[in-house]
Amino acid sequence: MARYTGPVCKLCRREGVKLFLKGDRCTSGKCPFDRIDPNSRNRNAGPAAPGQHGAAKKKLQEYGRQLREKEKVRRVYGVLERQFYNYYEKADRMPGMTGENLLILLERRLDNAVYRMGFGESRTQSRQLTLHDHIRVNGKKVNIPSYSIRVGDVISVAENALEKDSIKALVEAMGSKNAPKWLEVDAAKASAKVIALPTREDVGFDFNEQLIVELYSK
Ligand code: SF4
Repeated sequence: MARYTGPVCKLCRREGVKLFLKGDRCTSGKCPFDRIDPNSRNRNAGPAAPGQHGAAKKKLQEYGRQLREKEKVRRVYGVLERQFYNYYEKADRMPGMTGENLLILLERRLDNAVYRMGFGESRTQSRQLTLHDHIRVNGKKVNIPSYSIRVGDVISVAENALEKDSIKALVEAMGSKNAPKWLEVDAAKASAKVIALPTREDVGFDFNEQLIVELYSK
C-alpha cells in the first residue's frame, strides 16, 4: 500500500501545527515550522463568509476543519486512510466517547508504544524498527506496527539487534526520554511493560477529536 514518502515538514505546514514527525529535529531549533510566518498557518481558520452563499461557504469551512483535524491525527500516527477509518469504526462500537476511543486505539499501536518507550527518534523510525524484526512482545517476534498492545505486555528490543551499533545508540538514548505513565520503562534491559492502557490525557496532542467524529458521522 502506498505510504507518504515526501518531505514531512511540509505536512506540518499544511496542517498549521507542529506534528513532531522528525524526532529531535522538531525540538532542536532547526524546525522550519518555527520560522514560518504564523499568519500563513492554518488556512482553514477564519470567520464564516458573508453574502448570499455564506451558508454554503461556512459549511465548506466546517468540513474543511473536520477534514484537516482528521489528516492531522492520521499523519501523526502514520496511518493510511482506510486503516484510519477502520479505527474509527472500531472506536464507534466501543463504549464511551468515540473520539477518545479513536485516539486511545491509535496510541495502543505497537509502533507508537515503541516510540513512546523511547526506542526510535520518531514514530516513523519506530515503525521501521518494528517492521525490521527488532521488536519482541512477551518474548515473541512481532513485526506488525498496528499490533494493539494490552496491559501486561512486555515490549523489548530483540537481543540480536542489540549487537548493532545503530541500535545500541538508540537504546542508550532511551534512558534520557520521558515515557508516559502507562509504560514502565527499563532502559537497561531495553524493554518496557504496559502497566495500564493509555488515556486521552496521555495522547499529548491538543487534537479536537470531536471534529473527526462529526466528519465521519455525516
Ligand atoms: Fe514538523 Fe518536525 Fe519538520 Fe518541525 S522539524 S516542521 S515539527 S516534522
